[in-house]
Amino acid sequence: MRVGNGFDVHRLVVGRPLILGGVHIPFEMGLEGHSDGDALCHAIADAILGACALGDIGQWFPPDDSLYEGANSLELLKTVVKSAKERGFQLGNIDSVIICERPKLSPHFASVRKSLSEATGLGQDRVSVKARTTEGLGAIGQGEAVAVEAVVLIE
Ligand code: MG
Repeated sequence: MRVGNGFDVHRLVVGRPLILGGVHIPFEMGLEGHSDGDALCHAIADAILGACALGDIGQWFPPDDSLYEGANSLELLKTVVKSAKERGFQLGNIDSVIICERPKLSPHFASVRKSLSEATGLGQDRVSVKARTTEGLGAIGQGEAVAVEAVVLIE
């Protein structure tokens, strides 16, 4: 068995949609980024690449490559899962923590887990999404950014 961990942080800005795990979450701000800014998909993809010792998503999908401008990160995650499977790796489970002051994310967990389950081929009972605030502390606590930590098990 192999374990991989992923981390990502994106700035919250006005004029962008908030997309996490491929799900559009209604909010007055969204995540800045070259792609759609989906930090949850990025952290999970990085965790999978880490477990397989295949580098990181910056190498796979370079942010200075116009091909990935506005990219749908759920599709990037699917590419990573497919590449891992082609190398004989099988996903065991995903656990993640979204660190975010606002909006309240728990009402969206079910749809995010369903989306990630469909993208990865894992049962929803193997896809965990949680959220925490930083109690108002730091840039994330001030609502300036969203961070995500993810861990995956690969068999
Ligand atoms: Mg990112």
